[in-house]
Amino acid sequence: MRFVHATLPQRVRFASGAAAAGVRAEAELLDARQVMVIAAEAERTLADEVSADLPVVSRHHEVLMHVPIEAAERARAAAVAHQADSIVSVGGGSATGLAKAVALTTGLPIIAVPTTYAGSEATDVWGLTENAVKTTGRDPRVLPAAIVYDASLTLTLPVKMSVASGLNALAHCVDSLWAPRADPINAALAVEGVRALAAGLPEVTRDPSGVGGREQALYGAYLAAVAFASAGSGLHHKICHVLGGKYNLPHAQTHAVVLPYVLAFNAPNAPEAARRLAEAFGADTALAGLQALRARLGAPAALRDQGLAEADLSEAVEAILAAVPEDNPTKATGDNLAALIRAAWEGSEPA
Ligand code: NAD
Repeated sequence: MRFVHATLPQRVRFASGAAAAGVRAEAELLDARQVMVIAAEAERTLADEVSADLPVVSRHHEVLMHVPIEAAERARAAAVAHQADSIVSVGGGSATGLAKAVALTTGLPIIAVPTTYAGSEATDVWGLTENAVKTTGRDPRVLPAAIVYDASLTLTLPVKMSVASGLNALAHCVDSLWAPRADPINAALAVEGVRALAAGLPEVTRDPSGVGGREQALYGAYLAAVAFASAGSGLHHKICHVLGGKYNLPHAQTHAVVLPYVLAFNAPNAPEAARRLAEAFGADTALAGLQALRARLGAPAALRDQGLAEADLSEAVEAILAAVPEDNPTKATGDNLAALIRAAWEGSEPA
């Protein structure tokens, strides 16, 4: 065996029903005395509850998808004006993303309290959008110092959004198996992530007000994000990054739709990954396992329903072709990628 694996330094606390106490404990460990709270308007009440016992100097609620640079600048200015010494972010990937944008220039430590399965809290990847172009990068300053997971905070996440976001997490697991820095350690995390998500998500749809399925889903989402942070972006993430960035498609739903097509594309040339995925799904093949799960969840099925126009398909294929990772298991060509994207657009059977 020869490989190099990097593990990111971060504390993670699972605290079902006890987010406020968990965040307080993490804030004490950081010696936080002037906390900036970042949460979207919609998650304001959750954030108020979570931060009730903290020394808060600023509450910032201008959270927008894909972190427009102007919004990041306003949040950075607020952090400086209020002399914040730390950030508590409460919400989905967009809230975490804004906290990361502030940390990127100020170096402030983040305590992330995620309320979706996006997984940004466990990565050192930041994203900013300027003039409709999304730029991403990696920087140790943006990795949250601590994560507090409390499944009860996700009870209000609608079932449809839970499904899409959970499949976004599942995509982190699957893509990790053939991403540029894939190794046996991130594969182990990814496979356990698939098992937990495949167990938890159907439970979330069956009993949305129960905490059990949501705990499993959060646990799986965390493993997924750690695997993804270490393995990097494979073909699936490159496709979704192009589609999301160029055509402003919804993040989680785009991942949810595209995943079976990338799995069908790569599995024949990634037999070990396919075998392990099948085992984690408890199915005969990886694709059969994923499709059975998607059917149980009522997952979104076609990019045309997510706002992608047919006229944009060939331009999208060109942009994706330029971004395909060199060592993707199946060699991508203009033709086979065009077939993949058209099938995902139509929602036809992945082949
Ligand atoms: P999001 O944060 O925009 O949340 C989606 C919707 O769910 C919003 O309307 C939000 O208000 C709502 N919501 C969140 N939590 C809720 C709750 N508990 N109850 C009710 N409603 C709730 O979307 P997302 O899918 O979580 O994150 C997507 C963003 O995260 C994208 O910009 C993506 O690029 C980024 N992301 C970054 C990384 C990374 O490593 N940097 C990883 C994954 C995602």
